[in-house]
Amino acid sequence: MEVKEKKCRTIMSKSGLYGTDYSINPYTGCSHNCVYCYAPFVLREKREWGKFVDVKVNAVKVLEKQIERHKKGDITSFHILMSSVTDPYQDLEKNYKITKRLLEKLKPPKFLVSILTKSTLVLRDLDLLKKMNCEVGLTITTLDEKAAKVFEPGTPSPEKRLEVLSYLKISKVKTYIFFGPLLPFISDVNLEKTIHRFSMAKPDYIVIDRLNIKGPNHWKKIKKVLEEHYPDLVNKWKEVLFDGSEYYREFRKRLIELFQKYDLKYEFCF
Ligand code: SF4
Repeated sequence: MEVKEKKCRTIMSKSGLYGTDYSINPYTGCSHNCVYCYAPFVLREKREWGKFVDVKVNAVKVLEKQIERHKKGDITSFHILMSSVTDPYQDLEKNYKITKRLLEKLKPPKFLVSILTKSTLVLRDLDLLKKMNCEVGLTITTLDEKAAKVFEPGTPSPEKRLEVLSYLKISKVKTYIFFGPLLPFISDVNLEKTIHRFSMAKPDYIVIDRLNIKGPNHWKKIKKVLEEHYPDLVNKWKEVLFDGSEYYREFRKRLIELFQKYDLKYEFCF
């Protein structure tokens, strides 16, 4: 892993994601190295994803300046997503604490912060989170440990993420599960068992999204991994990802039935 300390010019960027106003990415790159990650394609990153991380060492100072500038404007509150193209609690955060120091600046009532991570490290900041106007989301694509290792090699297991959710919940922090991107013919195996397990973690709501392919190189990367670990799924994924309206209609229907059965609130992104 190549780690570089870099200076950024802005840290809070406009975002249209999940109804948020801004996103903050304390790092460029991500050691979690998820196969399906669209970040390198959105960022037009040429370096191999998962093999580098740039640490935005001046992020806190830059945020202070951006907040100061906004104070002069009309906007009275912000909904911020932490993060959209990196994991704010990847391993490097243990030492750098950039995410933690940024969160300390995002005080209520001006800031509502949605954290999204796959890491158990978020619990380190529990005392801070309890004082904030925030919600913490854990991404889970499947409960199948083998599949999670294939598609999300650098992350804690789905079961550990669910334990984090439960712990946050009993600590009175608002939580959500990001069930996505849905992995065709993997996320929907034992679907009732998955949703039942989700319900046990008592998330405030669940957000569901499909896997959106960001260009031919994104698909090429995913296909290579499928060929190695799930060769029988290559053609099925291709069909679904490029013309899967019927598949997603059915998936959605099954999910809604289960969410109703287990009394879970939900939001679909597709
Ligand atoms: S955790 Fe998120 S940002 Fe990091 S590699 Fe996985 S999908 Fe990409």
